[in-house]
Amino acid sequence: MPMPPRYTPKTHLPQFKAPILSCKVSDSEEIPLPYPGPIAPQWQAAAAAKGFAIIGRIRDRYHLALSCDACGHVHASRIYTLMSAQPHCPACMIARLNQDAAAAGLAHLRLDANSRHYSHYRAPCGHSLRRQHEIVRRMAAGNTGLRCETCHAATEASEADAKGWKLLGPDLQGNPNYRLYAHADGCGATQRIARANMQTGRFECSSCGEGWAAALSFLYAMRFTLPSGQELVKLGYSRDPDSRLAHQLRIGRDMPCEILRRVPMRTGHDAICAEKPLHAKLRDRHPQAVVDPRVYRGKIRVCSEIYDTSLTQDVLALLDGIARRALDS
Ligand SMILES: [Zn+2]
Ligand SMILES: [Zn+2]
Ligand SMILES: [Zn+2]
Repeated sequence: MPMPPRYTPKTHLPQFKAPILSCKVSDSEEIPLPYPGPIAPQWQAAAAAKGFAIIGRIRDRYHLALSCDACGHVHASRIYTLMSAQPHCPACMIARLNQDAAAAGLAHLRLDANSRHYSHYRAPCGHSLRRQHEIVRRMAAGNTGLRCETCHAATEASEADAKGWKLLGPDLQGNPNYRLYAHADGCGATQRIARANMQTGRFECSSCGEGWAAALSFLYAMRFTLPSGQELVKLGYSRDPDSRLAHQLRIGRDMPCEILRRVPMRTGHDAICAEKPLHAKLRDRHPQAVVDPRVYRGKIRVCSEIYDTSLTQDVLALLDGIARRALDS
């Protein structure tokens, strides 16, 4: 009876040729160098049971080159991983991710460098999205949909545009249902508005809306001190000057500013009718005191109606004149 062939440790692997990786699955994957030494029979048995064949020893005494039974791709595996767990063929994994992506209507672009549970995908709209693999599998199964953040922002911007407003960004108070908008086709004031209301148009501008026109309003003078030390005076009208100053005009929380004068007006319409000629008067008499908006851009959220502080007394005198006439009438 013939004896079974005795296992002889191979110290030399003549059939082993570099490069051994049949396809690179990532740029970081190097072509490893062969490492001399025997291949233990229990490694061979474990590899066969787990769907791989050992091509040879590589890199150092801890690594083997495993060829995938399913796809033929050769990858580097730790001997410890082979013996204690199920090695995963990276090419099969990429193929599975490609399949899941296609079933979800996406194209798999690449693995995420920071998390092995995430990849980058090309969405049907052409934008690149980072998504968890599990989410893509759920999309493929029809259990969840896709929302491209870029397209979504464009949708929200055009919703606002259709109502004459400009989407500025998220709500400064952090409510996820609200956004910050500017009344682009109106008075230019900024306002936080629920997105649902922007879609239906069920809101009005608190600076120039119809309700505003009929409600009590104020002319005001405010002083701002820029970080450079330069002082500015602003003349305007608002239903609520304190709120306008705190939530709309002032961008930096620590910029010194104060309301110098409030003159109540019976309606917003009265206020706007009184305010316009004041600006015309100030511009005509003191054109050099009109401050270039570039001076306060990014610090005060308006783009006109700001004067040099040297005009403060003139502004207050004009407001006091209006207050006296209002009392007389
Ligand atoms: Zn494979
Ligand atoms: Zn998109
Ligand atoms: Zn408005």
